[in-house]
Amino acid sequence: MAMYVFKDAARKHKLLARDAQKQDKSSRFYCPNKKCNAHMSVRSLDGVSKAYFAANQSQSHVKGCPYKSRRFQPNLYDGNGFVFDDALLSLTMPSKSQSKSDIPGEHGTGEVAPKPIRTIRQIYSMCKSYDCSDSYNGKIIGQMLLDERSAYMYSKGVFGWRLIELKYRYYSSDRKEIVLVCPQNGKEYTFIMRFGNEKLFKEIRKIVYENRNHLIIVAGEWNSSGKYNAFCTEIKSKKQLTIVK
Ligand SMILES: [Zn+2]
Repeated sequence: MAMYVFKDAARKHKLLARDAQKQDKSSRFYCPNKKCNAHMSVRSLDGVSKAYFAANQSQSHVKGCPYKSRRFQPNLYDGNGFVFDDALLSLTMPSKSQSKSDIPGEHGTGEVAPKPIRTIRQIYSMCKSYDCSDSYNGKIIGQMLLDERSAYMYSKGVFGWRLIELKYRYYSSDRKEIVLVCPQNGKEYTFIMRFGNEKLFKEIRKIVYENRNHLIIVAGEWNSSGKYNAFCTEIKSKKQLTIVK
């Protein structure tokens, strides 16, 4: 599912879910992924839930399309309660044990009030669902996630809390650093994960190395590393990382 689509095969005319009209109900729309030929249509236009787009069964998404099956469903979460910087800060905190009943939609018994999105996976999925110049609870998507779409917003560097789509480059055990690059960024920025904790470094190094052919999503508060066009963040928890396969 997606919160935006294109009206034309050339992907020139965008349509946001919230702007969809009755006359759009029978139209075929195009997946935001140019390499995907899914036939998409608007859903939930008349319902109390928010409208969104999904592929029709006749022509679904290509394998690996990021708009295929997203865990983010806006109606299940409390958008107004989401504060991006706070959410990322809590990803750097040690895990608290959490009961399963906290997950919306998991149990049918009793009314569970929607909660804001919280995990890196949920935040990443939310950012991918929306157009990068759109916003979620007042925050611009491209100011939360640095990916191919938002790279143009970062001509002066990457500073502050961000999720970044990265690819592994190398690691240094001496410096307890893992070095990654933003594959779509023409600027060739380098991103360094730094660790104070040896055990955590080894654990994450293993995960990153094993997934060196996949996209690695890292959440952190980014700052200049002291080297030209290189930015760093301190990794304090495994919650700051997820892999996209
Ligand atoms: Zn697609």
